[in-house]
Parts: sequence; structure tokens; C-alpha cells
Amino acid sequence: MSNVETICALSTAPGIGGIAVIRVSGPQALEICDKILNKKISTKDSHTANHAWVLVEQEKLDEVVATVFKSPKSFTGEDTVEIACHGSVFIQQKIIEALLYAGAQLAKPGEFTMRAYLNGKMDLSQAEAVADLIASEGAAEHKQALHQMRGGFSKEINTLRDRLIHFASMVELELDFAEEDVEFANRAQLVKLLHEIMGVVNALIESFSLGNALKNGVPVAIIGAPNAGKSTLLNALLNEERAIVSEIAGTTRDTIEDYITLGGIKFKFIDTAGLRTTNDAIEKLGIERAYDKAKSASAILLMFDVNTTSAAELAAMRADVMEQAGQGKHIIVLANKVDHPDFDKANFEKQFADVKHLIFISAKNKLHMAELKEELMNTVNAGRVNSGQTIVTNLRHHEALTKAAQSLNEILIGTENNVSADLLAVDIRKTLYHLGEITGQINADDLLNNIFSKFCIGK
Ligand code: GDP
Repeated sequence: MSNVETICALSTAPGIGGIAVIRVSGPQALEICDKILNKKISTKDSHTANHAWVLVEQEKLDEVVATVFKSPKSFTGEDTVEIACHGSVFIQQKIIEALLYAGAQLAKPGEFTMRAYLNGKMDLSQAEAVADLIASEGAAEHKQALHQMRGGFSKEINTLRDRLIHFASMVELELDFAEEDVEFANRAQLVKLLHEIMGVVNALIESFSLGNALKNGVPVAIIGAPNAGKSTLLNALLNEERAIVSEIAGTTRDTIEDYITLGGIKFKFIDTAGLRTTNDAIEKLGIERAYDKAKSASAILLMFDVNTTSAAELAAMRADVMEQAGQGKHIIVLANKVDHPDFDKANFEKQFADVKHLIFISAKNKLHMAELKEELMNTVNAGRVNSGQTIVTNLRHHEALTKAAQSLNEILIGTENNVSADLLAVDIRKTLYHLGEITGQINADDLLNNIFSKFCIGK
């Protein structure tokens, strides 16, 4: 535990409040608080609330209550002090500054909870997934799917780590026999394993964009000529009159965003300005924004009035959107206004037979909305979400995986260049560390235990 940093952070909501609570946790928590308070709290019993003054450069800054929790009986399992101060932002900042000066580090997001998990205080898979993922309106199935993901994730990481630990112990064993030039860790097997692990790690890293979209709402841009029925569609999906529906072409000048949960997945619909050539400066800006939104969207609903648009016009519009939004975007084409008296089903179906992902709808009469919803679910790989396959949703996990991928690459380069066992061991440890950051700490003891459990080397 000696190299564990002591961390501090504001634990109440940022901003002005009646009081604010700053949490300090780690092996030096009591000692550090002693330095900023006018009395020693390190000598106080656990679970006591102590009146004190915070001193900054010998000056009294604020009158506070410092609650002491001694390890292991605290939220994090470490020595913890919770300083309840008056809720001015200035005071909060000054106290945090004083703590940093006295030797604490600023806590990373979720770090208190992570420590609680690492110290066996709670199940991280629940804590993190719940905190990170479940939007308040999230459906029950959503919650279940997310819960599954997290469980699967830990298991996947642990399996990779265990296999790498095995290699690490072999490589470290070579260090003990350095004089004799033996090779316990078969390099070809190591390379094979590295490729395997990289495959899994990279897939997890990739899944983050989906995970992130799930958390923030999968962005879907609704694009089409003025009067195609974009606002009407949004209203139909939302079941409320939110966007302005009008018969004057070009009314939706800016973008309107709204959230709707389909099958437990949150979508963010973005109604954009109608696409057309215009000299109106404001409208031009709106159209530019529409393309920007399309670029960052996961899916695009390209909408047209089926009664007034030819197949050639649609093809041109589709090509334009693809060019602006980037290749590989999932475009769902919506032939709107099938309720119109001019609509001739057989004829139109023939006319647009070549168009992929085309759905005939009536936004006004809410016809074929189920097909549209199904198509939307396909765009986010809903199958993957509901099958319980691992999706990384947490930024910290994503960062750890990215670092693990980098160090894996270093091991690979090292192995290819026949670097010495000690250098290899360092890189393997780095990877283990980053993987361990996700599920739990790893230390040298794990390696030693592994060596001694597998080998009788007569020591
Ligand atoms: P936007 O400019 O693309 O947002 O189009 P709006 O949603 O404002 O719709 C333009 C006009 O088309 C309005 O008068 C709507 O009532 C009408 N409209 C939209 N969808 C349909 C539809 O499915 N059928 C019919 N008949 N009219 C529609």
C-alpha cells in the first residue's frame, strides 16, 4: 500500500451550496489533514466528527467539521477524512489547493469508488455500470443488458491477464537463470498470445464508440429537402408537438434535438435544416450544420416526399449526403407521404427498387413506424447490446485498454527484436498493470505465487 497516493476531491455537487464535502482518502489522509487543520485529527478515534479550522498560510479560512474514518471502515477501505466546509466555491477551491500542497493528489473520476472496489468494499461491476450508464429514463431491459456487459467484461479481462501472467512468470524465471541462457518462455507462443490478446483488446476499444453512444444517446440525423416531412416524423416519433411543422419551405432553420428510447436504447434525433440551394445566410448556416450533424451521427434518416421526387433526384441527394457525411454511414431512406392520394404503391416500389434500406412511410399518419424503429435498432447493432457481448462504456476503461494496447505493441516489437528477458518483463508488467487497472490491482506477489505454484525449483 505504500506507493498508493492519497487523493482528494469535492464529493458534493460542484457550485455553491449550504455546505460542501471534500473527501480525502489514502494512507496519508490523516497526516495531510493534520497539516491544514488547526488541530490533530490523526489522534482522533474512527467515526468521530471533529470541529476544526482550516488554516491557509496560518490564516483561518473556514470553520469545518472533519469526520474521520479509519481503514478499513470507510467507503474506500482506506483512511478517509470528510471535510464539511461552508459551500462557497472559493472555500472549496482553497481547501483543495491546501490539500494538494500538503501532499494529496486530485482524485480521478470515479477513483474513490474504484478504490472501494479494489479494497473489496463493493462490486465495481455494479457500481461503475450503474453510475456510468443508466440514464434515469433507461428501460429495465437496458439496465439488464448493461449489467451483463460489465460482468462479461471483468471475466474477459481476467482471462487475458491470467494468460499473460503465466508468460510473465516464465520470463521472470529466465532472469533467475540469466547465466545459463535458458528460454522458459517460448517466444513464438508469446507472439501468438500477444496477437490474440491484441485482437480482444482492440475489439473492446472499438466497442467504446458504441458504448459511448449508448450512454449519451445514439445520434441520428434526419435529413431531407424542405417539406419532406422531417419535423412531422420527429413529432411522430416523439408523440408530441415539439418541432414546428409548417407548409412554408425552409422553416426548420436550426437543428432540434430530442431523445427517444426504443427497445431500451436511447436515441438522439436531430432534426436538421432542409437541404436545398439557398441565398439566405441564416438558412445556409443551418444547412452547413445539418451536414456537420450528419457527419457525427451514427445513422442518417434521408427523407423525401415520394410523390414529388424522382429516383434520379433521390440518387443525387443520397450521393450528396454520402459525400458530405462520409462513406460508410448507415443511411436509412424514408419515402414519405404514402398516404397521399397520388401515391401509387406498385409503381413507386418499382421506381425505387434499387434503393437500399428504403422504407415507405407516412409520418403524418404514423404508418410503418415499426419498420423504421427496427431498422434503427439494426444500426446500433442492438443484437450486440442485448446478447450481453462486452461493450466498453467507461472512459477510464477505454484509457486503460488503450494503454494496454500500446504496451502490448511494445512487447511485440521487443520480441521481434529479441530484446533481453528483463526488458520484456518490464513491458509485460506494464500491460498487466493497465489490464489490472480495470478489474483490480496486480502486484509482484501474483507473479511469484504463479511461479511457485507451477514450478518446483527446489528453493
Ligand atoms: P420538413 O420541412 O421536412 O420538416 O417538413 P414538415 O414536417 O414541416 O412537413 C411539411 C408538410 O408536409 C406539412 O404540411 C406536413 O403536414 C406535411 N406532411 C408531413 N408528413 C406527411 C405525410 O406523411 N403525409 C402527408 N400527406 N403530408 C405530410
